[in-house]
Amino acid sequence: MALYVQKYGGTSVGSVDRIDAVAEKIKRFKEQGHDIVVVVSAMSGETNRLIGLAKEIQPGAQSPREMDVLVSTGEQVTIALLCMALEKRCVPARSYTGGQVKIVTDSSHTKARIQDIEVSSMQQDLAEGRVIVVAGFQGVDPDGNITTLGRGGSDTTGVALAAALKADECQIYTDVDGVYTTDPRVVEGAQRLDVITFEEMLEMASLGSKVLQIRAVEFAGKYKVPLRVLHSFQEGPGTLITIEDDSAVEKPIISGIAFNRDEAKLTVMGVPDVPGVASKILGPVSRANIEVDVIVQNVAADNTTDFTFTVHRNDYEATEQVLNQVATELGAREVVGDNKIAKVSIVGVGMRSHAGVASKMFDALADENINIQMISTSEIKVSVVIAEKYLELAVRALHSAFDLDANDSVSE
Ligand code: ADP
Ligand code: ASP
Ligand code: MG
Repeated sequence: MALYVQKYGGTSVGSVDRIDAVAEKIKRFKEQGHDIVVVVSAMSGETNRLIGLAKEIQPGAQSPREMDVLVSTGEQVTIALLCMALEKRCVPARSYTGGQVKIVTDSSHTKARIQDIEVSSMQQDLAEGRVIVVAGFQGVDPDGNITTLGRGGSDTTGVALAAALKADECQIYTDVDGVYTTDPRVVEGAQRLDVITFEEMLEMASLGSKVLQIRAVEFAGKYKVPLRVLHSFQEGPGTLITIEDDSAVEKPIISGIAFNRDEAKLTVMGVPDVPGVASKILGPVSRANIEVDVIVQNVAADNTTDFTFTVHRNDYEATEQVLNQVATELGAREVVGDNKIAKVSIVGVGMRSHAGVASKMFDALADENINIQMISTSEIKVSVVIAEKYLELAVRALHSAFDLDANDSVSE
């Protein structure tokens, strides 16, 4: 008998029929003698619909506190419906909102961080044989305000509950049967991975693979929560996220390819090449609460330089405004920008022990005539910024250059 925390994503609870199917599945786990804590997302499309309503009624900046009150309602619907579906099957169940569990977070509305989880009433329910159904993505701050954990945050609720309850496994049930070498909706030949290390999964998630929320992976790594991604309605082993992968020697150098369309690039041209310029440019950007990603500063010519960086596409206009001000103060020539770029990254721990990975990546892109605008590397990833229109071509070319396509598999 084990204790499983099972998180079901939006498409898995996207209709009454699917909620019934999830209840049926949970019933089978209960019959095998397991204790089950379920975390559910809102029905697919619901969170976007609610955000749309808010934007309609208050264009521009909405109150973060009210946004959380609004978007947290999506998950309240699914916990109640799933409990009804379980009770209909004579499976005793009890629903909990984040506030009812007492998932205490800080007060950063729309991107709150979990600080503490009260486990006593859940433990009592489990002891009394109930299935617990918790609303994902939400918590409550110390003053009792409803908070949410950022898009995709139900994954983090699942992992955090698994850590707090010392569950045997946190199972993320979704609409794909595991973590793939790249988004299987973009590359047909993408392959499911049996295992992926936390380190690699964290890079994949941070670089755009939204199959798991970044914080969920971080949390699972920190508290050593066994984490698995599986298909809600198909049998299969899924993908286990592991601390150490002992088969690393046999592993390909690249485990996966991540990509992100949500980027924009800005350049301050003709900045005087003197000490302190980077901080004079990026200081005001960071004070405006804008996160900077890839940064490149060119070699100076004529005592001036060009300074380029990327930000989230939603922050493009705000960054441009800040930079126009900074450029005037610094005596720079002009600010230019492009919000039709994308970032493609290759990720793999095998890179540490192999030279030539980056050049192989650049060769593959050159063969497709794709121009690389910026490059950034770390120990286990290489990212390039390219024009968005070449994104899918680049992902496919890299997938095949690094022998990740299903038909290249040695086991076939
Ligand atoms: P849920 O609603 O269940 O949380 P998400 O849409 O957040 O599901 O995540 C699942 C989706 O993640 C898949 O449908 C897939 O398109 C996408 N995805 C992106 N990269 C990957 C990858 N490397 N492996 C698997 N799925 C991926
Ligand atoms: N419903 C929330 C979202 O769409 C949280 C989640 O699904 O994980 O982002
Ligand atoms: Mg998700």
